[in-house]
Amino acid sequence: MTAPERLLATQDIATLFDAQRAASRTDQQVALSIRLDRIERALAMMVAHCDRLCAVMSADFGTRPKEQSLAIDITATIDSLKTARRNLHKWMRPERRAANFPMGILGVRAHVHHRPLGVVCIIGAWNFPVGTVTVPMAGALAAGNRVLIKPSEMTPRTAAALADAVAEFFAQDEVAVVTGDASVGRQLTSLPFDRIVFTGGATTARHIMRAAAEHLVPLTLELGGKSPVIVGNRADLPQAARQIMFGKLLNAGQVCVGPDYVLVPKPLREALVSELVAATARMFPRMHGNPDYTDIATDAHRQHLRALLADARDKGARELVINPANEPLEVPGSGKILPRLLFDVDDDMAVMQQEIFGPILPVLGYERIDEALDYVNARPRPLALYYFGHDAREAKRVIDGTVSGGVTVNDVLLHAAQEQVPFGGVGASGFGQYRGFDGFREFSTPQAVLRQSRLNLVWGLLRPPYTPFKLRALRALVSR
Ligand code: NDP
Repeated sequence: MTAPERLLATQDIATLFDAQRAASRTDQQVALSIRLDRIERALAMMVAHCDRLCAVMSADFGTRPKEQSLAIDITATIDSLKTARRNLHKWMRPERRAANFPMGILGVRAHVHHRPLGVVCIIGAWNFPVGTVTVPMAGALAAGNRVLIKPSEMTPRTAAALADAVAEFFAQDEVAVVTGDASVGRQLTSLPFDRIVFTGGATTARHIMRAAAEHLVPLTLELGGKSPVIVGNRADLPQAARQIMFGKLLNAGQVCVGPDYVLVPKPLREALVSELVAATARMFPRMHGNPDYTDIATDAHRQHLRALLADARDKGARELVINPANEPLEVPGSGKILPRLLFDVDDDMAVMQQEIFGPILPVLGYERIDEALDYVNARPRPLALYYFGHDAREAKRVIDGTVSGGVTVNDVLLHAAQEQVPFGGVGASGFGQYRGFDGFREFSTPQAVLRQSRLNLVWGLLRPPYTPFKLRALRALVSR
């Protein structure tokens, strides 16, 4: 990947931040009309720059189908913006709450106002280089914030195009993009933002948490990890295989919520494997040169995947390369890694210790569903969990018997593409959620507003001088 260097000096970043912060402090409420205007401009930006953004994403990856960029980076953002536009007047309404007994009956009125945080920093990942910054941007703008964005430098053309697009539609003190490498990320995270939204890996997340601690900056961490697929006894295997391989090979496996490994009842394993191979061949009759099959983004990432495979093979794993057209495994100049299924894997292998983030799918057998649940529960809580099977009791057991950021039953990725349910991780897969109302709340601060009545009777019992009557009345509140 080569691209224009657009490093900003430390001073520029601090100046940008100061301007956004000053602007955010002069308008603490941010009226509905102002928020809607920003959302409209963000929509106009996405529409006007859609083709260019898709083109630069393809160029940055080598090959990346436009359909994929449209669906995941562009229309996901448009969905979030339109949902906010439609619902913002309701979301912004102060929520009426009941005041504590007996204050409510003594005339106290309680409300929660969702106030803007101020300035939100959004640091994105390279795998969906637009969507990982623009989807949270939609929520942050809806909540009335100023936004400073840092896309990944791994996709530099995309970062530059996004910076141009934002500069065309927003004043710098509203939304701005800073580009550059991790050092720019470090400069950003040293500033006293009102929230940092980070999408990326757990190692970087630890650096960010340490940096954010300095100014007590709250974080939304959208991380990854190993998202399991559990195939049940009553799964429709051809359908399950089709969806598993679709999820696994979307963006060539470089998807945070992509299936990482499959757990299948041992008696069904051979049949599932045949279906996984057949489903792959139907989607991708050939791999190298196929514009529908995304390249692995960089040489370093290809090397990493090869190292995972070599380590697994050395430690006894069996590998099945899915190669419908019998192509050479490596073709000079091709950025693709052919899909593989792995068998006989164990915890000593790096492939079972790390998020794979590529077109490699370990397939593990289990005897009883409890064994599959124990396997998942013995490991860090996943970002996504998938269950395939037409057995409602078993599905309930899987849903209730595991904790993950989100679950999809009889499909993949679906829960991550919704505006009406929150998207986020748990434990090692992150914390904090966005999309729809959940994103609006994440990027707002709930402010309690209590109104005393004219009679002001509440503190009478507590205001000295104390009398036996006051003590008896307070004592009466101590009850079960
Ligand atoms: P990284 O953690 O390497 O980087 C993420 C971002 O952080 C990049 O913009 C990077 O900059 C920046 N960065 C790196 N170091 C620092 C630092 N010290 N301080 C501040 N910023 C820094 O993640 P990847 O880009 O490799 O993304 C892959 C990971 O993201 C996977 O684990 C995947 O599962 C996860 N992910 C999670 C998603 C979710 O929504 N939960 C969605 C998409 C991906 P630069 O790249 O310029 O060096």
